[in-house]
Amino acid sequence: MTTAKRALITGITGQDGAYLTELLLAKGYEVHGMVRRSSGERFERIEKYLDQITLHEGDLIDQMSLVRLLEKIEPAEVYNLAAQSFVPTSFSQPILTGDVTGLGATRMLEAIRMVDQKIRFYQASSSEMFGKVPTEPQDESTPFWPRSPYGVAKVYAHWITVNYRESYNLYAVSGILFNHESPLRGTAFVTRKITNAVARIKHGLLDKLRLGNLDAERDWGFAGDYVEAMHLMLQQEEPRDYVIATGEKHTVREFVQLAFDRVGLPWEECVELDPNFLRPAEVNTLCGDASKARNELGWKPKVDFPQLVNMMVDADLHRVGRMKDGLLP
Ligand code: NDP
Ligand code: GDP
Repeated sequence: MTTAKRALITGITGQDGAYLTELLLAKGYEVHGMVRRSSGERFERIEKYLDQITLHEGDLIDQMSLVRLLEKIEPAEVYNLAAQSFVPTSFSQPILTGDVTGLGATRMLEAIRMVDQKIRFYQASSSEMFGKVPTEPQDESTPFWPRSPYGVAKVYAHWITVNYRESYNLYAVSGILFNHESPLRGTAFVTRKITNAVARIKHGLLDKLRLGNLDAERDWGFAGDYVEAMHLMLQQEEPRDYVIATGEKHTVREFVQLAFDRVGLPWEECVELDPNFLRPAEVNTLCGDASKARNELGWKPKVDFPQLVNMMVDADLHRVGRMKDGLLP
């Protein structure tokens, strides 16, 4: 009899948590998720998997909750996706961001060191760590120059993961993922903010979309492709860090254009610039080189930029239409 491999996902209620849950269930894993207590339920993204997974209360800020969870679940793999992940919030709540997004990784690594050093650990690192990049494209050897408290916290979490690997011989890896989006992306992030607004404008529920820096460039991929890379990183003989990206960059303006084109609306008449959405320090451009992942993991993205934009616009059009018809709350 073979027993299913057990995985613990922190941040299971987020975008990546939902896609990773789907992937691991399809691979026959027993999936456990850590969720923090809230006055309401926040399980919309994982609703359809709730009868196939086990959720446990815990918080990256609470060291003992992590130790207890590892003792109880005895996972083979831990995917640390939980974070305060929104850059503007990291400027208004820098201490919280440092505590959750930075120190949270150390707490989980300490828990692994205490409970079972054979547990394999994945850290959700970010291209925001590159920040004010001197060279393009960015790969695993590009130096970091983070431009927000979020980016700084992720650099700390990245290096503590490397340090625990080198100090204690843990199988601990860091995936440096460039921006990845989907219909499940949070509505404050620029891509989903745009596609949600396009749908609402098309359905006559919104007048204008207000945005900040339209010239910012990002290397946007599809979250469903990126969680495959996370899983692959924990299945190797040697623990190594990888950049995950498409290698293509586009401006926010291009995203806006394609999204409005999809519904046949003139974007210039629907978009207003709003300085409230500019940031104290900006990451102007990001573009990744994922050659190492392609060569060593056999990973490459399947969804391209126009497919991603169309997928997100179509999903929001459908959802907003159902809301308007009273079929959704
Ligand atoms: P989301 O913002 O969608 O999800 C974040 C998750 O973290 C949520 O489940 C949230 O729970 C949870 N969380 C927040 N604070 C705590 C806490 N104190 N204790 C436990 N859980 C907590 O992020 P994504 O899914 O988009 O991203 C996943 C990870 O990958 C994040 O670490 C992000 O920073 C990183 N990343 C993301 C990129 C992207 O483009 N999406 C790019 C590179 C890295 P709740 O539902 O309760 O709020
Ligand atoms: P980030 O790369 O993690 O910061 O992801 P975001 O989706 O939040 O932002 C991507 C880029 O879009 C950044 O350079 C932002 O400055 C830019 N941007 C322009 N207007 C907006 C906006 O209204 N909201 C957000 N979130 N970003 C915006």
